[in-house]
Amino acid sequence: MKLICIGRNYTDHIKELANERPTDPVVFLKPDSSVLQYEQPFFIPEFSNDVHHEVEVLVKISKVGKHIDKKFAHKYYQDIGLGIDFTARDLQSQLKDKGLPWEKAKGFDGAAVIGKWLPKSKFKDLNAIDFRLEKNADIVQRGNTALMLWKIDEIIAYISQFFTLKTGDIIFTGTPAGVGKVIADDVLTGYIEDTEMFSIKIK
Ligand code: ZN
Repeated sequence: MKLICIGRNYTDHIKELANERPTDPVVFLKPDSSVLQYEQPFFIPEFSNDVHHEVEVLVKISKVGKHIDKKFAHKYYQDIGLGIDFTARDLQSQLKDKGLPWEKAKGFDGAAVIGKWLPKSKFKDLNAIDFRLEKNADIVQRGNTALMLWKIDEIIAYISQFFTLKTGDIIFTGTPAGVGKVIADDVLTGYIEDTEMFSIKIK
């Protein structure tokens, strides 16, 4: 199983990190070993003093496909989720400055939180899903899939030109503004609309 992540998919987040707006989706992978086991705490790794939360809508691939046309992309997923793309921002900044790959900053153990799944049939419009992240019961990130530069079906069409999508692969669709540092004892709780999707304790 692979985790395919889209970076810089929300204008407000591109601005907060002073990144350039990409002309094509920014794509990176996380290894399967980065998945945080369900309901386990997240341990801040020793190599970072600045681990950020990035809450993201997830899509689970339900069928093998390659070179998927945008108009058929909806046939390749049934479930929508919510997760966190934990990022060691200090390490990522060093790697970015040197033009090096980001994997160490985003693919470490526990860096991929995957919450519950909801059938996509539950949503009237997948391009208008409200989601948010609360840290210690305060809202820190709020997003809506309407604000994505590349929508779910466009992402699937794009990434399937490069990678065969397999059943069980998960797409992280990018984070809205409000990313920030986590510290020990924080509790991060993610919601899609009014449904709690995960709650993670930081250690
Ligand atoms: Zn991200």
